[in-house]
Amino acid sequence: GYREEGNMSKGSFVSSILLKELKDMWMKRLKFLFVCLFFFSVKALPVYLQKTEGKTLVFTKVRVFDGKQILDANTVVVQNGKILSIGKDLKAPENAQIIDGNGYTLLPGFIDSHTHVFGSALKDALIFGVTTELDMFMDVRQMAQIKNQQKQGGTMDQADLFSAGTLVTAPGGHGTEYGLKIPTITSPDQAQDFVDARIAEGSDYIKIVYDDGQAYGLNFPTIDKATLKAVIKAAHKRNKLAVVHIGSYQGARDAIEAGADGLAHLFTDRPPDADFGKFVAQHGAFVIPTLTVLQSVLGIKTGAPLLEDSELLPYISLNNRGNLKRAILQNPKPETYQKVVVATIKQLKEAGVTILAGTDAPNPGTAHGVSLHRELELLVQAGLSPQEALAAATSLPAEKFHLQDRGRIAPGLRADLVLVEGDPTVDIKATRNIRGVWKSGVPVDRESYRKTIANEIAKIEKLRKAPPPTGSSSGWVSHFDGGNLKSYFGSGWMISTDAIMGGKSLAEMKVVKGGATGTSHSLLITGEIKSGLSFAWAGAMFYPGPQPMQPANLSSKKTIQFWTRGDGKTYRIMLFAQSLGMMPAIQTFVAGKSWKKYSFDLKQFNGIDGHDITGVLFCGGPRPGKFSFQIDEVKFE
Ligand SMILES: [Zn+2]
Repeated sequence: GYREEGNMSKGSFVSSILLKELKDMWMKRLKFLFVCLFFFSVKALPVYLQKTEGKTLVFTKVRVFDGKQILDANTVVVQNGKILSIGKDLKAPENAQIIDGNGYTLLPGFIDSHTHVFGSALKDALIFGVTTELDMFMDVRQMAQIKNQQKQGGTMDQADLFSAGTLVTAPGGHGTEYGLKIPTITSPDQAQDFVDARIAEGSDYIKIVYDDGQAYGLNFPTIDKATLKAVIKAAHKRNKLAVVHIGSYQGARDAIEAGADGLAHLFTDRPPDADFGKFVAQHGAFVIPTLTVLQSVLGIKTGAPLLEDSELLPYISLNNRGNLKRAILQNPKPETYQKVVVATIKQLKEAGVTILAGTDAPNPGTAHGVSLHRELELLVQAGLSPQEALAAATSLPAEKFHLQDRGRIAPGLRADLVLVEGDPTVDIKATRNIRGVWKSGVPVDRESYRKTIANEIAKIEKLRKAPPPTGSSSGWVSHFDGGNLKSYFGSGWMISTDAIMGGKSLAEMKVVKGGATGTSHSLLITGEIKSGLSFAWAGAMFYPGPQPMQPANLSSKKTIQFWTRGDGKTYRIMLFAQSLGMMPAIQTFVAGKSWKKYSFDLKQFNGIDGHDITGVLFCGGPRPGKFSFQIDEVKFE
């Protein structure tokens, strides 16, 4: 039989399903009670009404994945932004727009359960079928602004946002390194006030950081276990979920023990004990493993394969392309990923723990929207069935985060829909063959988004025909031997620091006596990296274009070379190019006691070919502290 329900309470088929679900739910609740010895019920998150066009849509001859399984149905009718009915060969209402879904699969719009929203994030997400993002820490002013737009129904061109707002962390702890000024917490007695302040700001759930960084060879302050416990209790007192960011295996166990509703991330420091899966299951917690970002932390360039997919690439902005080529830490450790992360997923799955798909975009190696398709692939590679992976990005996050109006294709729910060619329940990569995205029944204009990117690329391609900068034929930038900052081409040298991003780092540059290879002068760059910003920098930047940050065509050159010496610290050379978007490509070098020559292929900078270089930065950071190094004989060759 098929389902054609106008009302969830009608029909014996529906009732029996409901009964079973109720029973399962009670069993889970009882278990939960048993373990936690207290009961709290989470309030449903707000339902945003969308302004929608009155158009009726009918998807015909289509395979329907409802968020849990493929239905025995081939027609979905959408009216006033909601699913009206689902069934087999349903008759289309008059004046309906028919969408032939032959060979295609219709899915609920995807939900990414771990992101950080700023800039174009929600727009980028929607293009790739992610109709809802669960943010895990963002600027609360921006959060308020977006939620206000949502209340007015004015966000048809971007994914919906639910957010933790400001996260809960210790002074100087993880979360304070991004340049946002945020309040922090030091003891359990502050917990309720702290949580209440977050809820007053509009947090939909509470995100807590319990991580000292040591699992990654870093070291930063974190809240203690008593504070963690108190914050979770405070969140539950207000019927809010508490999601805990962890970095280590022990951290994960502590968080579960303290009553976390969900874990953000898994650990990479050691394989779990044999009982870990059961332990999480017994406590009724869900896990958002964020496999993409765990790969990035383990030095795997997890985003790069997405750029080789011709279905995806035309829709990936230049900024996102640059970010997808990166990894958080260097030194790839694929064995650790298999032995620790994949082994943990296997345990969690066997124990019946709910796993949710989250990308942690826009961390290095990820981008909003597109990376969810990578996360789905990684979940399947780690042992989930394609159906389970799809549920992890649709029905399950809706269930766990109490989003009542979405996550399923079911009568009465929002028509947030993705139409893909092929069958992703057989081949998960079919989610990438997107043929349409609808938000509340309104089609998303993917085509103009694609055209904007294509135009941007065409403009940069045109730069290939530009003549090389006057004075650049020898390749010399500067040798400083006139005792000054003279450069042979471009608009010269300037100080660049993280002050433009809210940092406080300082730098100075001075031409000094004594250069490399017995020459008379060199450039001394000194300064101090201040505060714990993850991206902190300060140094000297050379601009090869006629104005700072204008592109110069240096495609006739293959390398950039320079000599350096200094205090023994590691420094960075960053190349900026229009094709890289806003983010530079980075290489590191050590400035030791005696002069040493470095030569980098331009290709080493994310594969650039030099036709659109806008800046070359020599800088210290991101580690805090004073620094001092010299450079000399700077040359493109
Ligand atoms: Zn995150």
